[in-house]
Amino acid sequence: MENRELLTLNSGDLAMPYEWSVGLYGSRFFQEIREKRRFLGIRCPKCQKVLVPPRRICGPCFQKLDELVELSDQGTIKAFSVVNYPFIDPATGKQRPIPYTYGYINLDGSDNIFSHLINEIDESKIKVGMKVKAVFKDPADMEGNIQDIRYFEIVSK
Ligand SMILES: [Zn+2]
Repeated sequence: MENRELLTLNSGDLAMPYEWSVGLYGSRFFQEIREKRRFLGIRCPKCQKVLVPPRRICGPCFQKLDELVELSDQGTIKAFSVVNYPFIDPATGKQRPIPYTYGYINLDGSDNIFSHLINEIDESKIKVGMKVKAVFKDPADMEGNIQDIRYFEIVSK
């Protein structure tokens, strides 16, 4: 063995509670979902693209954004992944049961991709171009975060 000192090891659990601000438009986005079950996007005054979730700046144009627009709760699957690898869900701190499907969804009325779960795990039943609709938690259970959207369900082929 090489000439190394034996290190002392301590093991145990460490609580690291924290709060993270989602910002002005992020707050509006989650409030709108919690209170009205509706998505908000934001339109860029230069390129006219509607981005969801809303943010302060259009990345490609560097324009300040302030025109919030209502969006549909439906969209189109642009890509998806059926995930079979277990890992700790950062939103819950618990292992997410596998398999599950992560979808890249273009919400109607927007120009970018919104990522969320799709409630279909049989990849032979999912196709790019299918329409999906958001399924929200019961109003009494809404917390004002991304998990207020339970998943997107496929509504047409
Ligand atoms: Zn823009």
